[in-house]
Amino acid sequence: TLQLVWFRNDLRIHDNRALAAAAAKGPILGVFLPSVAQWQAHGHGASKVDFWARGVSALKDALHGLNIPLVQRNTDTFDRAPETLLAIAREYGAQALHFNHEYPLNERRRDDAVLAACARENIAAHGHHDAVAFAPGELLTGKGDYYGVFTPFAKAWHRQITAERLALDDAPTAQTPLDIHIGASDDALIAPDTQPADTAVDPQRWPAGEDAAADQLARFLRFRGRYYNVQRDFPAVSGTSELSPYLALGMISHRQCLQAVMSENNGQLAEGDAGLGTWVNELVWREFYQHVAAGFPQVCRHQPFKDNTRALVWRDDDAGFTAWCEGRTGYPLVDAAMRQLVATGWMHNRLRMVTAMFLAKHLLIDWRRGEAFFMRHLIDGEFGANNGGWQWAASTGTDAAPYFRIFNPTTQSTRFDPDAAFIARWLPELAPLVPKARHNPPAAERSQLGYPQPIVEHKAARQRALDAFKAL
Ligand code: FAD
Repeated sequence: TLQLVWFRNDLRIHDNRALAAAAAKGPILGVFLPSVAQWQAHGHGASKVDFWARGVSALKDALHGLNIPLVQRNTDTFDRAPETLLAIAREYGAQALHFNHEYPLNERRRDDAVLAACARENIAAHGHHDAVAFAPGELLTGKGDYYGVFTPFAKAWHRQITAERLALDDAPTAQTPLDIHIGASDDALIAPDTQPADTAVDPQRWPAGEDAAADQLARFLRFRGRYYNVQRDFPAVSGTSELSPYLALGMISHRQCLQAVMSENNGQLAEGDAGLGTWVNELVWREFYQHVAAGFPQVCRHQPFKDNTRALVWRDDDAGFTAWCEGRTGYPLVDAAMRQLVATGWMHNRLRMVTAMFLAKHLLIDWRRGEAFFMRHLIDGEFGANNGGWQWAASTGTDAAPYFRIFNPTTQSTRFDPDAAFIARWLPELAPLVPKARHNPPAAERSQLGYPQPIVEHKAARQRALDAFKAL
């Protein structure tokens, strides 16, 4: 019987658990439900929505090669998903549905509603765990709780990982063409005029689809993987994989990444190459935050992970927030990073930490405003990692930076952008200065070059943040 495979953040035909399980049971009809209003409600901006659309288009081509048609039906919000899927099942006579689980709260509610609706209509619905090696709930502390700290989670992950969990599923073989007709309205891409007003980033910078993702992985492993541990903190160097947009939309699986590491590293994940071992840990961080979203649903409700930080009094400072968003804080590394984000849809991890901490600590502005701004601009915007990163920086989250640890943005700049090359790239107005002067230009030079004076003084801002946290 016909199997529906409902694609969401798993836009690939290789190593896709739901697709492989469906292929073992019968002919397949693919489904994608563009949910533009829901995505906007979740704060995704034009870059991500555009990448989604291009990813779906690449998926459709790949499925076409297997004679699997893809039905796309606009389903503005998640609550409409059950009726839409049932309608498609009725229309094409499908009796089974497969999808890969997503773990944030709204996604789980949507999927629970879909499972219930399918049960009522006698459609066999199957959720598969694909995005993570361990389903949330599989790795728990000795007391049976979800981990709220990364290191013991990572230890448990490494202790319990097996070859079977990381085994790759082949793409299905081509099926006999189905005798069905897909209407033109079900064949449309996500309508561009429903996208938010921010402009999308250059599609050449981020080509979509699993071929592009595989190329990116191969390039990373060939040229940078071995040096990852020493290069990953320097934003002027392309030292990281830049796979985050592909992982966020599932154009590549974490298993494909980990298998590629093992084949470079004598079959090992952690031991052996220090560069690759460090990189594996980043993939475990990704998985950790997905478990956090599932195990501590308050974080999906805009609440801090740490209860006692609810009472923190954040400052109302629209001018400060705007200066941060526009890269005009007068702290060159912060400003360069924010301009990179808005221009490219991506920001280096070191700079995500620096800019997030600057907003939450130096400006003492509610981290949720920063979280939303990142989400609107990131092409890799992913709830778990974004929320986890922001709560870390704001000292409200799991593994939070202790509240008294506040990066000095100028020290971060001299340490991690020693030649100020990154600053010069994104703040061309400072490029005429000698590199040493770019980290914190003298007041007169700032005026001359049209670069703002610092909007806060580091020491005073630091003290203000410490006082706010001490008051808790
Ligand atoms: P690499 O260093 O090559 O790492 C490989 C992969 O591991 C990444 O692609 C990503 O999938 C995962 N990863 C790496 N670091 C982390 C981390 N700290 N937490 C979770 N997963 C990680 N990552 C996102 O994918 N989406 C986000 O929306 C996001 N928002 C962030 C917000 C803040 C404030 C902070 C501090 C971090 C955020 N991160 C986010 C995590 C991290 O910055 C990015 O994953 C990373 O910079 C992406 O670049 P890369 O692909 O070259 O990473």
